[in-house]
Amino acid sequence: MIDANGYAAKQIKQPLTPYSFKRRNPLDNDVLIDIQYCGICHSDIHQVRNEWGSSNFPMVPGHEIVGSVSQVGSNVARFKVGDRVAVGNFVDSCGECKPCVNGLEQYCVKGAIWTYNAIERCNGESVPTQGGYSDKIVVKEKYVLHIPDNLPLAPSAPLLCAGITLYSPLTHWEAGPGKKVAILGLGGIGHIGVKIAHALGAEVTVLSHSLNKQDEAIRMRADSFYATSDPSTFKKLRGYFDLIINTVSVQIDLNKYLKLLNLDGTMVIVGLPEKEMQFNAFSLTNARRSIAGSVIGGIKETQEMLNFCSDRNITCDVELIPIQQVNEAYERVVSSDVRYRFVIDILNSLASKT
Ligand code: NAP
Ligand code: ZN
Repeated sequence: MIDANGYAAKQIKQPLTPYSFKRRNPLDNDVLIDIQYCGICHSDIHQVRNEWGSSNFPMVPGHEIVGSVSQVGSNVARFKVGDRVAVGNFVDSCGECKPCVNGLEQYCVKGAIWTYNAIERCNGESVPTQGGYSDKIVVKEKYVLHIPDNLPLAPSAPLLCAGITLYSPLTHWEAGPGKKVAILGLGGIGHIGVKIAHALGAEVTVLSHSLNKQDEAIRMRADSFYATSDPSTFKKLRGYFDLIINTVSVQIDLNKYLKLLNLDGTMVIVGLPEKEMQFNAFSLTNARRSIAGSVIGGIKETQEMLNFCSDRNITCDVELIPIQQVNEAYERVVSSDVRYRFVIDILNSLASKT
């Protein structure tokens, strides 16, 4: 086993504190990665706080991982020592079911093995997975991504979850020229959605709970911006959008937002609030509208997203923090105060001290 250091929640709702643990030994198909940066996703906070009801502790969160390869197994063909690489939300899947065979491993019928808060099978043993708020990780080659040369590492880390979470539904529901797209919630995943939707050629509107982030959204290339705290927003935009991507981390009144869709419009839910949401059937039937959901993306699609961002020089707006500030950062994310994603400087605040 390999010694690793990180920050973990030892129990539900506890602050994250330093944690030493063991990583599994790399096998022939594995890559050992020295982690340099890791983004803080709101999903990390939901899980540390057991808001989805399936958390195991101690938990080292983190699924927006970038770093460099420090060792490769004898069967590894796609990576060599020193390569700039990334790991996202999952580190294994069955590889045999229809979704896996079609490159949609996130929808593996047996369940994808999440990067943390899951159990990995390795050499017949069950090993708990632990995430990227740590100095190293061992991952099967198949689940490791290449970071294109022109993308700077720290602001690219959140592409591994935030980026793919928006790229996948935007491309699946064909955001592009002539399409009116709303991004609901300008947080970590929402802000990269604005950049990607614009790059795909769509007309992009941000729906945010206040006007505080308006200037920054326009700089990110949003075409327009509305506050959802203003009732006139819902009158002006009634029946306007082809596609709404709902990134909000808490439950909202879906009926209000569904009425903003035009005939055959779709709301895609990617935000994962703790509490259930309800809607009135008429909100759909009145204009043949749909509600859909989407979770991250497959490995092939994630590499495609990284290459897309590389071609268009798209990265995330990040606040780089030492790992010692992670608990404060969580509070700021929950109060919608982050601009727009925290990224932990693992290299300078954790790895160098171990
Ligand atoms: P985040 O940075 O906290 O952004 C969430 C945004 O939601 C906030 O910036 C805010 O936008 C809006 N919001 C938050 N509280 C609100 C409230 N009380 N009323 C109205 N609006 C509120 O979080 P994130 O990392 O982007 O993640 C967002 C959600 O997506 C989380 O639930 C996360 O677990 C989920 N997620 C899902 C996937 C997936 O694959 N489906 C992947 C990653 C994350 P404004 O300030 O603009 O209003
Ligand atoms: Zn995430």
